[in-house]
Amino acid sequence: MYYKPVQNRSRTMIYIFCAPSGSGKSTMVRHLLEKHPDLFELSISCTTRAPRGQEVHGKEYYFVTVDEFKQRIANDEFIEFEQVYEGLYYGTLKKEIERIEQDGKQVLFDVDVKGGINLKHILGERATSIFICPPSIEELRNRLERRGDTSPEMIEKRIAKASTEMEDMKYFDRVVVNDRLEHAFEQLDEIINEQ
Ligand code: ADP
Ligand code: 5GP
Repeated sequence: MYYKPVQNRSRTMIYIFCAPSGSGKSTMVRHLLEKHPDLFELSISCTTRAPRGQEVHGKEYYFVTVDEFKQRIANDEFIEFEQVYEGLYYGTLKKEIERIEQDGKQVLFDVDVKGGINLKHILGERATSIFICPPSIEELRNRLERRGDTSPEMIEKRIAKASTEMEDMKYFDRVVVNDRLEHAFEQLDEIINEQ
């Protein structure tokens, strides 16, 4: 698949990925990062949740305490932030766009649905917002269970949130249905090629 080189673009392109948890958003983002490490870079968010599995501070997230997070809010360091789950804060740092732009790469955001709608509103035409849609809520539950890193209680919270998130699909520039993985990657590649 041919991608337009980033040097031909007048400005950095920004892709905002959103989906109910378990839909395959991280899988889509990883696909782009692995296929084109020279073109794309992930914006690293701040979170107050604890690292899961092999996650490393400064790679998947900046893991901070609630006090540190609040200090960053006071310092106006976030473009947007949300209490995505009860007691768990996540925020997009203004500095991340600058950092990735300086690397000459395109920015990938992996944020919750509300955060994605806010980011698109703030960034306008510079950004393409992409909703990763699961084939069904039942399959969403299966994927979260198979992934094996989320407690049954958190899975229930995420499923409960998914139904309302699906209603916001209409606010996104593009929708990718992640049924068969290869087909979802093809849809994604088409979107990237259009820009
Ligand atoms: P999210 O980032 O949206 O929470 P993940 O990318 O972590 O979701 O995907 C959730 C789980 O589902 C992972 O174990 C992933 O490997 C699996 N998965 C992703 N896409 C598919 C697919 N098309 N078919 C089957 N399993 C999938
Ligand atoms: P997880 O805990 O599974 O890594 O992420 C939970 C949710 O928080 C996911 O939907 C993820 O996209 C979202 N998220 C991650 N970073 C941010 C952020 O900076 N802002 C917002 N609004 N959501 C985020």
